Amino acid sequence: MTAGTGEFDLIARIRARVAARDDVVLGIGDDAAIVQLPPGRQLVVAMDTLNAGVHFPDGSAPAGIGWKSLAVNLSDLAAMAATPAWCTLSLSLPASDPAWVDGFLDGFLALAAEHGVALVGGDTTRGPLSVCVAVHGLVAPGRALRRDGAVAGDDIWVSGTLGDAAAALMQWSAGDAAPDPWLRARLDRPTPRVALGESLAAIAHAAIDVSDGLLADLGHVCQAGGVGAEIDVDALPASPALRSLHAGDARRRLQATGGDDYELCFAAPMQARAAVARAAAGSGCAVTRVGRIVAGQGVDARDATGMPWRADRSGFDHFGAR
Ligand code: ADP
Ligand code: MG
Repeated sequence: MTAGTGEFDLIARIRARVAARDDVVLGIGDDAAIVQLPPGRQLVVAMDTLNAGVHFPDGSAPAGIGWKSLAVNLSDLAAMAATPAWCTLSLSLPASDPAWVDGFLDGFLALAAEHGVALVGGDTTRGPLSVCVAVHGLVAPGRALRRDGAVAGDDIWVSGTLGDAAAALMQWSAGDAAPDPWLRARLDRPTPRVALGESLAAIAHAAIDVSDGLLADLGHVCQAGGVGAEIDVDALPASPALRSLHAGDARRRLQATGGDDYELCFAAPMQARAAVARAAAGSGCAVTRVGRIVAGQGVDARDATGMPWRADRSGFDHFGAR
């Protein structure tokens, strides 16, 4: 590699831009990082990989890749009701490209700053473009929101709007000459619902983030909890941008099975409706009631008239049939 662009120069570039955090005893530069856990907190750990051509289109702006690689991880912590604290970053790059790394860090560190997350270490290697991030969050013992806590009678809620990222991906794959920029931002720069997740810790019974499609992700909650779910696909929250582009079954399909929205889907007792509304207002994120947990198994989707609604697939599965 040419002078100034080797592995250690890239790491130095990253290190120079990382913000401090009081509980980071030792950050980037040694064989491993040391962080100080606050007393009486459990550590919540999540990891997600983004591969070029699979999780983001080839040629995507590096800042968007940086943002999204952290956002999808923070979304997992949000779905556990954990407070993000630290993260690590593994970068596989086809070539040493300081400009690409700078752009990547613009997006990555902007989101890290929003949530006060410190980058404490990682790995930098040569290979196909791939980004792997691990995040570490904190939660009071027993307070994490798991997938397995839903009980029959619970309301099912979703945050924000669904189907936007899938609609953007559809425009992109169709080579749309005038793609909707707001939808595209929903795909490239998802907003992890961290504050909402934290405030649901004492309210909800179970939660998951919608990464693979609502029907698929809600299906995981049902399976984990040994319960079933009924949802009204016409009650799913839709953005004005999505409504202006898609109607009827096309919209239902995007909203019920489209992935990449990174909204929260959670089950909460009926008596907690006012508390859920307060949590939503307090975190500045709208929530919509879309169904209920029932005895049984699987997700029963219906339209507004009560007719069963079937999708040709429930969500995205990397190793599933296409
Ligand atoms: P080792 O060979 O001991 O694993 P490395 O040379 O891989 O050490 O890394 C040196 C230091 O730089 C370590 O503290 C490591 O965590 C950090 N580091 C390497 N790559 C990254 C990266 N992409 N982002 C953040 N920190 C990194
Ligand atoms: Mg290493």
